[in-house]
Amino acid sequence: MNVHLVNPSSVSFGTAVITPRWQYVLAAATPRSYGDPILVDETLYQVDMERIQPGDAVGIGIHTANALRGYEIGKLARARGASVIFGGIHATLYPEEAMELGGAHAVVKGDGDQIWASVLADCALGTPKSVYVGGQIEASEFMPARWDLVPRDRYMWASVQTVRGCPKHCSFCSVWRTDGQKPRQRASDVVIEEIVQLRRLGFRFIALADDNFYPVTLTDLDLASRQKDQHRFNELTSLREERFELMARLAQLPDDLVFFTQITMEAAEDLEFLDAMKAAHIKGALVGVEAVTPAGLKDVYKDFNSAGESLTERLRTFRAHGVHVLGSFIFGLPSDRPETFDATVAVAKAADITFAQFVMLSPYPGTVDFIKWEKMLGANPPTIAGIPLTRRWLIPQALRPKMYWPHPVMSAEEIRERTQIVWDNFYSIGAIWKRSSFIRGSRGRLAFVLISKIYRQMYADTGMATDSARVTWSGRWARWLAKPCRRLFAGKPMPGLQVPLPIDIMVKIPGGPVEVGAD
Ligand code: SF4
Repeated sequence: MNVHLVNPSSVSFGTAVITPRWQYVLAAATPRSYGDPILVDETLYQVDMERIQPGDAVGIGIHTANALRGYEIGKLARARGASVIFGGIHATLYPEEAMELGGAHAVVKGDGDQIWASVLADCALGTPKSVYVGGQIEASEFMPARWDLVPRDRYMWASVQTVRGCPKHCSFCSVWRTDGQKPRQRASDVVIEEIVQLRRLGFRFIALADDNFYPVTLTDLDLASRQKDQHRFNELTSLREERFELMARLAQLPDDLVFFTQITMEAAEDLEFLDAMKAAHIKGALVGVEAVTPAGLKDVYKDFNSAGESLTERLRTFRAHGVHVLGSFIFGLPSDRPETFDATVAVAKAADITFAQFVMLSPYPGTVDFIKWEKMLGANPPTIAGIPLTRRWLIPQALRPKMYWPHPVMSAEEIRERTQIVWDNFYSIGAIWKRSSFIRGSRGRLAFVLISKIYRQMYADTGMATDSARVTWSGRWARWLAKPCRRLFAGKPMPGLQVPLPIDIMVKIPGGPVEVGAD
């Protein structure tokens, strides 16, 4: 029995930005008795069905955006006599759908790291169960990825996870509901070993692909202290210390390494954390700004973010402490008005952020927004090509609407057009060149322009343009740029690189230790 792991995608670029981590984790979870699994990442090239033989096991990982393509592959694989297993966030939320439409024999719900070997054993006997509950396993049970299987010359960034779960509860995000609100943080030893392995292979750019790299804020600590909750305080303190320990070890790695992660804006209040990030070569972070007005932040349950002047100040703090920001903004919130678009791009430019993404509000399955939206559409939602809007990912791509929420004052088309203009404005050559001024030397600045443009092409037009010629042109352009761009990310392999030793560090906790019952 051969094991295939397929990452579905309708568009292939030959080169991809980031390694799909789940494939390498499940490869590690695949018992060696089956041989090395065959990994197919369709963001690189399409799956070759001829390689799938009767009796093989085909694992397909899906999220909402690639579910439809995943179902096509599942049906074809089943027709070839393979056992088909779906996993990933979308299959966890809609297991019946994978069975009805994707030819699934089995669906794994939740974390696959530990349960995958049992799934394969059942497939080998020809008796897979229809549902396996992987659940939310402890961090100590996460599988380290098998990077020995990665095609080194295809990816710009590798991906390593240090923590799963996020304590926040943003209305548009499914992470806290599917990965849980308790941060499940890996020990620094296993994380460092993976990173060293990747650097040995020549990866210099590594995404710390976490839900939220900053799971404990100073506000959390202060609250536990004020509530005199010793247990909570100790728990938070220990999580925070482990973060610092990891960063201190990352700081010992070669200087040419560049890490990128995802954090909340509250990290801007924690200068000690930002300085540790800088020392650890964590040079950039995605920060969910979402909205620039208090009303917009309230719309998405993110009122822990700042708005107005203090927002610009907070974002500038990251940069002042050596952490570049990829700011993420959402358009189409009920409180948005036509002037919100200009105000947003003005903040994005004034706040010294290096990259930005502007997305249109979309109700994603597994989120509070989705539940509200589904309820609002009622028992008989509108249909397109016979498919209810509440299963919008099943609507053929060309027919899919770009906006789903009715907006109180703007049409969907107006929001789409204004969003497109914001992308064009933020990524105009003049604006990119100005932003590149932090780089010394014209070669470096040109590389920055190239990377900014490819980012814009890959993420803006392909997801948002209605005109298919523009989508095709963007895809071609991105494909053409992707190859030279990938070379900019490659490093010379360092086969002799050693794993830095653990560091015993004491972290000063603001507010100091508390005693229950003390004033
Ligand atoms: S958007 Fe970010 S901060 Fe909010 S719940 Fe999701 S991961 Fe957490």
